[in-house]
Amino acid sequence: MAPELNIERLSAWNMPVSKKFLIAGPCSVESEEQVQRTVMQLAAHEVTLVRGGIWKPRTRPGSFEGIGLRGLKWLKQAGNAAGLPVATEAANPAHVEECLKAGIDALWIGARTTTSPFAVQEIANALRGVDVPVMVKNPMNPDLELWMGAIERVNKAGVTRIMAVHRGFSTYGKNLYRNQPIWRIPIELRRRLPHLPLICDPSHICGKQKHIMAVAQQAMDFLFDGLMIEVHCSPRAALSDAQQQMTPAQYGRLIRKLHYVSSRGSRQLPEAIRLLRKEIDLIDSDLIALLAQRMACVRRIGTWKRNQDISLFQPERWEHILQDRVRSGVRRRLSESFVRDLFEHIHEEALNVQERIPAAKPSAPWHRKGQAVGG
Ligand code: PEP
Ligand code: MN
Repeated sequence: MAPELNIERLSAWNMPVSKKFLIAGPCSVESEEQVQRTVMQLAAHEVTLVRGGIWKPRTRPGSFEGIGLRGLKWLKQAGNAAGLPVATEAANPAHVEECLKAGIDALWIGARTTTSPFAVQEIANALRGVDVPVMVKNPMNPDLELWMGAIERVNKAGVTRIMAVHRGFSTYGKNLYRNQPIWRIPIELRRRLPHLPLICDPSHICGKQKHIMAVAQQAMDFLFDGLMIEVHCSPRAALSDAQQQMTPAQYGRLIRKLHYVSSRGSRQLPEAIRLLRKEIDLIDSDLIALLAQRMACVRRIGTWKRNQDISLFQPERWEHILQDRVRSGVRRRLSESFVRDLFEHIHEEALNVQERIPAAKPSAPWHRKGQAVGG
């Protein structure tokens, strides 16, 4: 169920937003000069809010863990010089306190922190009675409830200027992107909390600069309210996330290239779109009928398996289904990963359905051929 939240519109943030809420700045504040140069160059482009990490949550110890407290002053001064508000990550109540003392204009809760309700609650307690905007990044793991829980905790503490930041989800192994976007999660968040501002952080999704434009455009196509992009005056020399940072000039080009689409109410849609939607509705209803038919078949086969006392899971059959369906899906221009995911879901549900079929009662021993009675 969607929680009752009291959330302000983006216009109440009193920040220089035109069409989209655009946050840009270095992954980390590294030196007074670096942050100043980056922010001055950024100011030539469209920017709503400057970002800069002061305390850096690093996966492994020993890498650059942030410049710490003295960086707050440099960040604020750079923002003042450019006439722009600034934001940083707060991971505990002491960070919150230091940021407020330094006049930082907005805070964000990082992905690692959102993962821990204890940590989020401590931050929320520190925010009680304080009027500062807070951005909540999604947790590392693809768990919408955890993300919503963090947003609720902050809102319950009285913070009404809140925004969700989609930065992708961590998975094991090598993938095209550093963090998988799993778009259906932010899209479901938007469905449940339509008034909550939602932006995308393509830098942390991509991990590599060359993919950022495509993911940023995708976020615009999905009607996100803005972007958070890592920008550094000399990305190759960056002390953290060097591969995903871009120069202010590259950022400017990216922003100018973005195409913003609008969602028009269904009544204003052209006839062609309405007809196509009707067709999609019919196809979806066929899909559901077919799935129900498939599961009915699965139930019958499950009963047989139970009666014959053979395993519900048949590895060879599953291997065959997966390979065959992926092959025929790809032949019909469906992506391999989509067909694979779809059939993994279907197979999992088929096993669950069979699992719910009661096991056949063992026949009494005296009915079994060749077995001694008793003993
Ligand atoms: C960051 O924005 O600097 C950061 C560490 O991001 P995340 O929490 O999304 O990993
Ligand atoms: Mn970073």
